[in-house]
Amino acid sequence: MPVDPSHLPKAEFFGLLPDEFHALVARWGWPKFRAKQVRDWVYQKMVTDPRSMTNLSKHDREKLLDTVNFESAQIIRRQDSNDGTRKLLLAWGTANAETVMIPDADRRTACVSSQVGCPVGCKFCASGLNGVKGNLTAGQIVEQIYALNRILSAQQERITNIVFMGMGEPMSNYANVMKAIRILHDPQCLNIGARRITISTVGVPSKMRELAKEDLPLNLAISLHAPSEPLRRELIPWAEHFSLDEILGAARYYFDQTGREITLEYILLSGVNDQAEHARQLAKLCKTLRANVNLIRYNEVESLPFKRPTADDVVTFQNILRNAGVNAHVRKSRGRDIDAACGQLRRNEQQSEDQPVQISV
Ligand code: SF4
Repeated sequence: MPVDPSHLPKAEFFGLLPDEFHALVARWGWPKFRAKQVRDWVYQKMVTDPRSMTNLSKHDREKLLDTVNFESAQIIRRQDSNDGTRKLLLAWGTANAETVMIPDADRRTACVSSQVGCPVGCKFCASGLNGVKGNLTAGQIVEQIYALNRILSAQQERITNIVFMGMGEPMSNYANVMKAIRILHDPQCLNIGARRITISTVGVPSKMRELAKEDLPLNLAISLHAPSEPLRRELIPWAEHFSLDEILGAARYYFDQTGREITLEYILLSGVNDQAEHARQLAKLCKTLRANVNLIRYNEVESLPFKRPTADDVVTFQNILRNAGVNAHVRKSRGRDIDAACGQLRRNEQQSEDQPVQISV
């Protein structure tokens, strides 16, 4: 019995590489240049309603309307910080994810999510509090950047850099993350250079080694957060799966294969991992690989016991590293007047289903 086409699921435009979109339209008998016309409308002119794609025939516009989903996320929350940081909570049915745009000089960095929630469960993070609910598709990852571009287009700006540092562990959604990166990187799509894309992982050695063999010079960051195994396991429950030695071995392999220096991310938690002895241990560990250290002053999360260290404590920590010859930077705190911590906006949204919370939208 022939299948009723109206019952077939629609293709997700943002999850398709150019070749896949070509293959789709070729099945309809369209010439290749028509696929390019559609991509130009979407990526260059920011038009996602087929009815407005005026250089397509009425018949072709209807075909697109019937068979392809373009923007499918709903923006259910938006927060604008005084420092220009923009934070969105996007929803696809019951799945939702945060995405953030951080402006800095001429950079516009998107901090994107790879999963709904997070399986890693860092004790200090709002995203990991309720575990992981599922993976985001490649299209849902790309759509986060597209949603930020739509906001930026009012100032004729675009996202220039991407960091996978939002909700989720990108290495545990590897296939979708890599496909999204290829779409984001493709000159026919968003054309973002691989050197401007950073994957941040808590450390999954087999996937780090796989990443080293991809033909893309991506930046790799490791969320270290503690300089010793016992403290790391206390702060990051997932750390019990892989030893620090295995993770650092995979990081060295990544450097050897790609020539790209690794970044070690280190969230400073007052009185927990920000003491002089921790800085000395961290400096020692850094000597074993080519790595920069990114120090991040903790943004407090309501209901969690961790505290933000003082600015003086952060400088002292940084100086110990620098005096030991380690390249250590302090990341600027952004969006402090909104729900700056990862997963906080989503968590507040979930709580608001039970009790109203004060969020500026
Ligand atoms: S800090 Fe990152 S890895 Fe840890 S729970 Fe939060 S989102 Fe997951």
